[in-house]
Amino acid sequence: MAKINRNYLKLPGSYLFSTIGKKVREYAAAHPEAEIIRLGIGDVTQPLAPAVIGALHSAVEEMGQADTFRGYAPDLGYEFLRKAIADYDYGRIGCSISPEEIFVSDGAKCDCGNIQEIFDTNSRIAVCDPVYPVYVDSNVMAGRTGEYDADLQRFRDVIYMPCTEENGFAPEYPEEVPDLIYLCFPNNPTGAVITRDALQGWVDYANKNGAVILYDAAYEAYISEENVPHSIYECDGAETCAIEFRSFSKTAGFTGLRLGYTVIPMALTLEGVRLHDLWARRHGTKYNGAPYIVQRAGEAIYSPEGRSQITGQIAYYMENAKLIREGLREAGYTASGGVNAPYIWMKTPEGQSSWEFFDFLLENANVVGTPGVGFGPHGEGYFRLTAFGSRENTLRAMERIRHL
Ligand code: PLP
Repeated sequence: MAKINRNYLKLPGSYLFSTIGKKVREYAAAHPEAEIIRLGIGDVTQPLAPAVIGALHSAVEEMGQADTFRGYAPDLGYEFLRKAIADYDYGRIGCSISPEEIFVSDGAKCDCGNIQEIFDTNSRIAVCDPVYPVYVDSNVMAGRTGEYDADLQRFRDVIYMPCTEENGFAPEYPEEVPDLIYLCFPNNPTGAVITRDALQGWVDYANKNGAVILYDAAYEAYISEENVPHSIYECDGAETCAIEFRSFSKTAGFTGLRLGYTVIPMALTLEGVRLHDLWARRHGTKYNGAPYIVQRAGEAIYSPEGRSQITGQIAYYMENAKLIREGLREAGYTASGGVNAPYIWMKTPEGQSSWEFFDFLLENANVVGTPGVGFGPHGEGYFRLTAFGSRENTLRAMERIRHL
């Protein structure tokens, strides 16, 4: 008789954004006149840059001609894109990552979720608390986390690293040494960043303990300050202990187009085996590549016009971030983030839980955000707003919040 993967039953409740979606739908149905502004889910609103659209059009034309038609893409992605990534995202900042170490995919979520497959089932994972839920949930599905403790809101076998106001929302080394360490900077949900020295500390820690860092840099393009590393490979020795994930979603508005990549240096080995080879084997077996036209669209963001257009989009969102952060502070709230990341992490008013504040804001300002507790127990008492709305909606939302 067929049986289910019972690990799935350990996943608590429904996915955070489904719960938010349901609450908002119910409120909208009961109040059809309400003009709801969504600053909750981290999806972009600006259209694709003209350079990207131009590249898509010409790639589509190529696909319609017998002599330029392309079928399956190469396993690891087209050379033209991997070379553009290696040169621009790494070479330009002095990191020696070669095109062969880059795996093109349809986004960072799949890669962050799937990477755990190449590690032993008994690996101990460490995650920040609060955390982007994919890292934990994908390990739950694989049977690596033990049972869920509903009282503690934690999985018994996961090492949680609290990220609080006291430690500047940056994790400290856990008491028990993990095998796999998930780090995400600039951070979703807190919008916090890590200094180069602090990240170097994590790289040294991982190398010393034989751990692997899974570094999610999906928001790297939003970094505006000096001394904030754009890549973990800026740290000495990272090539022997770190895998890095990047995404075109927030960098260039590809959330609906889908493109990302993962870097696994050749020097990263465990038990004498290159992790690169394991991921290449997995990629070849389970994945047939991002579409040619999308890879050409991705290449276009590295052209001079593409660069300047996406820089403009990022500046637009970061102006929203500034309006939100400063607007909240003027209204008397404590807020951080929004300087090197499109997320603003605010404290809920005294005595209100994350979900209570969610309901309060929805009902009184018709503004939707994300309850911090949805990202982990240390997110309780916090609330996330995103800078991805339109300028008009951001201004209207802040006006409403000011008048609460
Ligand atoms: N990593 C983090 C931290 C994210 O916040 C997101 C998207 O919200 C992703 C990865 C997923 O990116 P992608 O759209 O490339 O799958």
